[in-house]
Amino acid sequence: VSLAAPEIAGRAVAVIGAGIVGACAALSLQRAGQPVTLIDGQPPGSGASFGNAGMISPDFCVPMSVPGMLRKVPGWLLDPLGPLAIRPAYLPTVLPWLLRWARAGRLDRVLAGSDALRALHGRAFDLYRELLGPEHFAALIRTTGQIYYRDGDEAPAGEPIRDAIWQRHGVVAEPLDVRELRRLFPALTPRAGHAIFRPHAGHTVNPQRLVQTLVELFSLAGGVLRQENVLKILPEGTGYRLVTGIANHLFEQVVVAAGAWSERLVRPLGYRLPLESERGYHITIARPNVAPPPMPVLCSNRPASASPLDDAIRCAGSIEFAGLDAPMNEARAKVMLERTQAMLPQLKIEHYAMWMGHRPSFPDSLPVIARAPKHPGLVFAFGNGHSGMTGAPMTGRLVAELVAGRQPSIALSPFSATRF
Ligand SMILES: Cc1cc2nc3c(=O)[nH]c(=O)nc-3n(C[C@H](O)[C@H](O)[C@H](O)COP(=O)(O)OP(=O)(O)OC[C@H]3O[C@@H](n4cnc5c(N)ncnc54)[C@H](O)[C@@H]3O)c2cc1C
Repeated sequence: VSLAAPEIAGRAVAVIGAGIVGACAALSLQRAGQPVTLIDGQPPGSGASFGNAGMISPDFCVPMSVPGMLRKVPGWLLDPLGPLAIRPAYLPTVLPWLLRWARAGRLDRVLAGSDALRALHGRAFDLYRELLGPEHFAALIRTTGQIYYRDGDEAPAGEPIRDAIWQRHGVVAEPLDVRELRRLFPALTPRAGHAIFRPHAGHTVNPQRLVQTLVELFSLAGGVLRQENVLKILPEGTGYRLVTGIANHLFEQVVVAAGAWSERLVRPLGYRLPLESERGYHITIARPNVAPPPMPVLCSNRPASASPLDDAIRCAGSIEFAGLDAPMNEARAKVMLERTQAMLPQLKIEHYAMWMGHRPSFPDSLPVIARAPKHPGLVFAFGNGHSGMTGAPMTGRLVAELVAGRQPSIALSPFSATRF
């Protein structure tokens, strides 16, 4: 342990947060010639990037709030097996965010948001291939497509607007015969009907290993990884002092990619951003007794999905508002168990792992990818919400372009920090 005063690390850049966004940003910055330090209090890929459903969906372009959705909310809240839960004591805190979410569901905003999501996600496979190289890409990512099905006949909320948005962006969604669905995934409930196949989508076989591999590539190329929790970002001279639990470090530029915790880090600098944790749950069944699906399968009218991981099936979903500090709600995890069993009736759920994680979400379903308005050399890259595994490689590339002062690959205005 050095007790010497910290030295200014020249042009050096720090990235706070080694989730999928921080990992992609650190590697992109490094490849652009910057000396980079990646700092996280936990091992890489321990946050939301650990336990997500692993879907990589370049065609994902429908914001979470769309016209007609708001009417469904009371019913969802009353249904114990429903997709949405709010811890009562947390309601006053989350109410302003929910009102913004409702306003984000206006048609003009939804269409503009869908354009931004399409630009952010559209090249996800190509960008991962560039970052990982062909061998790691082949080991970690599958471009098999995804399947959506309905449980029973009831149409999902917002289906007409979803279809209109897909048409606007040329999303390929082919009808899938139910017999073909049964052949592809015999373990799926016999209630499954009305299925579609989206060929231009896929998944990673292990979200955490994807993050770890990106960080390993970064380290092998000389990047510095520090396992330290950043307590404070203090402007100093033309750069920043990062105060961590065990040291101080000085950097010329700092990228905040700390997922759902990012707002806490930048609030003392005078920023109030409507970043909320949409807490999600998963149940992972290792070495299942039924054949896993050949690709991710999502139920469009119930909160359930099944993804094939290395040697496991992962069922993920649910949205719970209870903040960053409340412990996991076992009742919500049990709901995931019940949903999983309903989706896969023959699956023996004896040995499983349950998990809760924090989706970093803004009410309009778009991240902030921007220079901090009041602090030169500080860059925000957080809020990728439900689609961070998909949006991370482009987010990382945009961060590298922002830090270098280069022309961004896509329009940045939808991702500004001043849009709220
Ligand atoms: C149940 C569920 C299913 C999902 N399914 C999908 C899916 O199928 N496809 C998809 O694209 N997306 C999915 N997502 C969303 C996706 O997981 C997230 O958008 C993404 O992981 C966010 O990445 P991140 O790097 O911003 O945040 P995180 O992965 O949470 O990383 C943030 C990191 O910052 C670190 N950190 C925080 N504070 C500090 C500090 N003060 N100092 C140092 N380090 C700090 C944390 O330790 C953490 O490692 C899902 C999410 C959930 C919860």
